[in-house]
This record gives sequence, C-alpha cells and structure tokens, in this order.
Amino acid sequence: MTVVSVKDRIVNAVTRLSADEERLISSLRKVAHWGKSIAPARGYRDQCARLEWAIDNDHASIGLVRRMVAGCNENCMRSVARLFVEHTWEGYRRRQRFEAEHGIGVPSFIVISPLARCNLNCVGCYAGAYGDKEPFLSYEDMERLVDEARGWGGRFVTITGGEPTMFWERFPGDSRGLRDFFRQYADTMFLMYTNGTLIDDEMAAEMAELGNVSPAISVEGFREQTDERRGEGVFDKVMAAMDALREHRVMFGASVTYTSRNWQTVTTDEFLDMLIDRGCMYTWYFMYVPVGRAPDLSLVVTPEQRAEVARTTWRWLNTRPIFVADFWNSGAITKGCIAAGTSGGYMHITHRGDICPCVFMMYSAHNIHDTDSDTPLLDAIQSDFFANIREGQRDKQNNPLAPCQIVDHPEVLKAAVEATAAHDTQEGQLILTDLHEEVAERAEQWREIADEMWTQSGVYAGFRDTYSDDGWLLPG
Ligand code: SF4
Repeated sequence: MTVVSVKDRIVNAVTRLSADEERLISSLRKVAHWGKSIAPARGYRDQCARLEWAIDNDHASIGLVRRMVAGCNENCMRSVARLFVEHTWEGYRRRQRFEAEHGIGVPSFIVISPLARCNLNCVGCYAGAYGDKEPFLSYEDMERLVDEARGWGGRFVTITGGEPTMFWERFPGDSRGLRDFFRQYADTMFLMYTNGTLIDDEMAAEMAELGNVSPAISVEGFREQTDERRGEGVFDKVMAAMDALREHRVMFGASVTYTSRNWQTVTTDEFLDMLIDRGCMYTWYFMYVPVGRAPDLSLVVTPEQRAEVARTTWRWLNTRPIFVADFWNSGAITKGCIAAGTSGGYMHITHRGDICPCVFMMYSAHNIHDTDSDTPLLDAIQSDFFANIREGQRDKQNNPLAPCQIVDHPEVLKAAVEATAAHDTQEGQLILTDLHEEVAERAEQWREIADEMWTQSGVYAGFRDTYSDDGWLLPG
C-alpha cells in the first residue's frame, strides 16, 4: 500500500481545490484569516492580512487567481501548490535550522545560467557575443547546486542563459537534458528565462506534462521593437510559442527589458493587454543596465523615465489580472536589494561556475570548479565579498526604491570589489571604470527622485509603516 505523507495530502487537496475557482478563493480566504493571527513569522502574518484584504476587495490579484484556474493545467497548479506548501512548511523549518546553525538568513532561491550560448544575438544583451567555445555547466554541476539549495529548503530555482532551451533535450556530451533535470526535481519549481524561439508544440506539451517549469519569454514591445532588438521574425516566433504554451495550459509569462528606445511602448496598456490576451500570467520588467560586454549608455533610461515606468508597473499591479514585477522598482515589496544571498534573496551561478551576488553584479570571489566543498554556495555567502555587499545593503540604503549597488549606489559596489578578492566575470566590463562617473551622476539624480517618491507617494504608505522601525527614510 502506498503511504501518502501529510504534506502530499495537502498538496493534493490544494490541487483539487484549484479546479474550482470559487472554492479555491473561499478556502484561501479562510487560510488567510486564520494565518494573519497565528502564522509563525510577522512576514507571513502580514501576507495573510494582505491576502484577506485582496479577496474582500476583489483586488486585481484575485483576477489573476481566476485566470490561473482557467488557464493552467493540473500539473502546473500542483507545482504551484507544492511550492507554497514546501516553502511555508518544510522550508520554514529548514530555514530556521540554517539560521540557528550559521547565524545568517537563508536565500529564497538561486539563479543558474547553465550556458552562455544563444541562437540569437540581441542588441545590448549582457551575455554578449559568446562563441561555442565558452564552457557550460554540466548536468552534474546543476545537480550539485540544486542539491545544496534544497538542503536549506530552497524549492525555487531560476534558469537563465544564454538560451537554456538549447539544452532542453541534452547537455553536450550527455544523454540528459533540462527536461530530464526538471523531471528529476519534480518537487522544485523552475522559472526559465528564454527567448522562446525554440519552443514548439512538442516542447510546450512536454512542459505541460512536467508542470514544474514556467518559461518567461523575452519580448521588447510589439513586432517593430522586438525585431529591432532581437532580429527579424523573432516577434512572430515568440507569439507562436505563447500560443503553443497557452493551448497546452502551461503557466508562462513574459520578460521585458526596457531601454531609452522602447520604454514608452512597453508601458502602454495596449502592450500589457496583448500579453494578457496571449495568456501570460506574469511579466518581469528589467531596466537595461550598462553591465557586461559592450555596454551602451545611450540605451539607459533617464531617471525621469525610470520613475514613469515605476508608476505604471505599480498601477498595473493593482489594477490588472497579471503579476507585474519591476525588478529595480519593486524594491518596496522585497525590502530593497535581494543580492548576495541575503535572507530571502538570491545569488547567481554563471556558466563558468562563478558565484556572483546577482545576475547583474558580474563579480565573483568563488567558483564551484575551484573547490571540493560540498557547500560552495554557503562558502560564497559567508565570504568577505558577499558580506561586504550585504553590509552595504544595510548601511547605505535608506530607500527601497533606490536599492541597487550597481546603478543607485555604485560607489558601494566599487568599494566592495576593491576591498576583497572579487574579480570581473565578464571581460570588457566598464561599469566600475570608464562608466563609473556617469553612472554615479545618474544615481544621484535617481536618488533625489526616489526619495521624493518613497516619502511622499501614498502608494507606498503601507510599506513605510511596515518598515518604519528599520532605519528607512521617512516622510518629513
Ligand atoms: S544588486 Fe541591484 S540588480 Fe541585483 S538584486 Fe540588488 S538591487 Fe537588484
């Protein structure tokens, strides 16, 4: 007789519930009502209170829940339910143990770039023009990283690149590919950034069957903007990929890089409506930052344009049935920067094995290939370099809308790199050298705008209250 664990029973029950939107929403409300009083941590209690409020006020996020029930198959909903149960239950206990043992918080997820190769050559891509000779992470390297993160309760992994679907069927020299990897770690959720051009009906069907991989497809606007940056014909391929994923009821989203050229297009309601109509459940907005090879300052948005994007994405978050995350401007939600393995944050492992504080912070003092350690990620978290970055997060930031040591406090990153053994992980970077002065000047302009937004705007009032005892900038 098969014995089903309590945890699996809960996952099964939540998955069954997710087939009926009214029962799901009324059950979520009961859990939120109960959790806002008795959840073990303040963060959970606040989230429960917010969820209860959202349901009672039919907030846009509840519209998203309804869309997910209609648009995602049972395997995807099971993976979401499992992530929720694992994170709040087993994950919570593991995180408590980790903190007690090591005296530092636990990152919530890791980002892995198995390869730098790509079938496209987009303007301004930080991955740059790597050739086929670049190293890549093997299947075993990936196992080593994910196993370590799972040891501290991590059940969420982001895969990026290069173009990860190039390894979908098999890693070079291996009979196994990413699809096998996702199947092997069936209780872990994978967000996979992709240009979408290799996703056909067959791959979409495999993703639907797996349920635990959610592709976030790059799109830069409508046909004109996408093809301008990514190459002719790419927009049509992206739309075809989205259609295939929608037909197979895979949970998927979009990834938008905004630059001085396309920011006006990607902040129109028409653009967001197109993503919703195509079936996207979420979209990530990334500001172009001049890192990596051949950085182009002319593509960087001005501080005023950044503020306009921030206002738009925040409005959408509260009015549209799609999850909108603006990576640099959503710092109010994450309480600032999440780099360097900070508690609840993350770190990035490159295709060469370098462990970096953040995807966009391309410096490292640890490489997984240079150590036999069973815990290379923990070693990096405890390193002087990561500690310096985390110290900078605590000491130098007083506004979660200007959280970044790359573009908002570049002098902090420069000092951390110079004070430790960290090295460039990409040749040709200029952000701490030739571009430093210009980036610092823009950072100062942005901080002025961000200070006003954070202290004066009513939309951040709830967060100001929650953070009021933590040394953040306050009104007046
Ligand atoms: S370093 Fe900057 S880009 Fe990276 S997580 Fe922190 S705020 Fe975001």
